[in-house]
Amino acid sequence: MQGVFEGSMSFKELAMHGDFGIGTLYDLDGELVELDGQFYQVKADGKDYPVNDSQEAPFADVTFFEPDQKILFNGSANQTELQRYLEGQMPSKNIFYAIRIDGTFDYIKTRSVPAQDRPYPTLTEAVAHQSVFELINQSGTIVGFWSPAYANGVIAPGYHFHFLNENRTAGGHVLDFSLKNASIAIDYTPQFLMVLPENKEFIQANLTGADQAELQKAEDDPGRGR
Ligand code: ZN
Repeated sequence: MQGVFEGSMSFKELAMHGDFGIGTLYDLDGELVELDGQFYQVKADGKDYPVNDSQEAPFADVTFFEPDQKILFNGSANQTELQRYLEGQMPSKNIFYAIRIDGTFDYIKTRSVPAQDRPYPTLTEAVAHQSVFELINQSGTIVGFWSPAYANGVIAPGYHFHFLNENRTAGGHVLDFSLKNASIAIDYTPQFLMVLPENKEFIQANLTGADQAELQKAEDDPGRGR
């Protein structure tokens, strides 16, 4: 949130912590998706690019995806409805969940952000220049997490989803969707390891006042009904 967009861990090292996840890249250059051990960068042009092992991420959430629950979801749902449904499936609100949704999306709205120049703006300022994509009739995969309320401050509580289409030509940070038929897998995740950046920007950043309203502005779609 405070604009520490310098890379802090190589993708080679990040892959040792998980084969499934989301994040961003050096200079906040796009949205990161890791699926089946492959990293993809969805740039502000909306296209997917392969990620080089030696590139570094300033921020990412990853896990080794081992599903504890599999759901065949037959029917239609928008994002709000599906999220409510998934919350009903969770055995507890006190652990983390990794969530994979493979399906057909009649509509999906995503965003990505362009690379930022130094001195870096805050995330909210950077996101004001995001590119928004509205995709129609896409098969693909949502990769994401649900995090408990008490984790607020180190991670965005609730859902955080990124998307990759089946052809690996589009994707991004998910703002809204409507899907028809999906296969959903949930990995119950009772452990959380946080590796802090060691760069000067992180060490010198003022992190005493995490602002929830700013976080919602940066991550959510103001147009989506809840
Ligand atoms: Zn995101």
